[in-house]
Amino acid sequence: MARSRQLLGSFTIKGPDGVIRPGDSVLLKAPDSSKPPYVARVEEIEAAGPRGTNVKFRVRWYYRPEESIGGRRAFHGSKELFLSDHYDTQSPDTIEGKCYVHTFEEYTELRSVNAEDYFSRFEYKSATGTFTPDHIAVFCKCEMPYNPDDLMIQCEGCSDWFHPSCVRMTIKEAKKLKHFFCGNCVAENAKLQKSRGTRGESEEKEVMSKRRRR
Ligand SMILES: [Zn+2]
Ligand SMILES: [Zn+2]
Repeated sequence: MARSRQLLGSFTIKGPDGVIRPGDSVLLKAPDSSKPPYVARVEEIEAAGPRGTNVKFRVRWYYRPEESIGGRRAFHGSKELFLSDHYDTQSPDTIEGKCYVHTFEEYTELRSVNAEDYFSRFEYKSATGTFTPDHIAVFCKCEMPYNPDDLMIQCEGCSDWFHPSCVRMTIKEAKKLKHFFCGNCVAENAKLQKSRGTRGESEEKEVMSKRRRR
């Protein structure tokens, strides 16, 4: 028997902004209502019945860090999701509404992060627990990838970013800083001054005392 399979360009659910198209991200009811909703990307919207009835969403799941094999790590943001290789079919009544999964760059530039804003910088293979890319830039003395929830301060010497706690500073102190040079850059600068001879010594002291005042 021929199956009247038809792909739809959009499907409208209740609520404001209810038009869902392939490529959109959606929140889906978790079976356990005490858990946060699931997040998925809509790949296809299909009507299996006649005249656009029996609508099914073909989705690709986003995993939260705690759902991954390695679990949540310190550099994972609270709104971080991994685009998995796990596909599924869902009926429209499980969809709670739309959400927005930004790229990492877009997310860090958002002026305000709303409940429905998320970001994804990794693809995740659910069977092996591996990530693509498997290497990303690390920062600070602790050599950690950037967690956009955490405040970091940039060194004006080497341009690396640092966690206040890793350079023995409180968040409050870091927020007040107008200029910051990391320990390495201060030491490098001191060496440079010394190699320039006696004249450098007083300059070096000046640099150090300026830093201490902050
Ligand atoms: Zn650090
Ligand atoms: Zn530096």
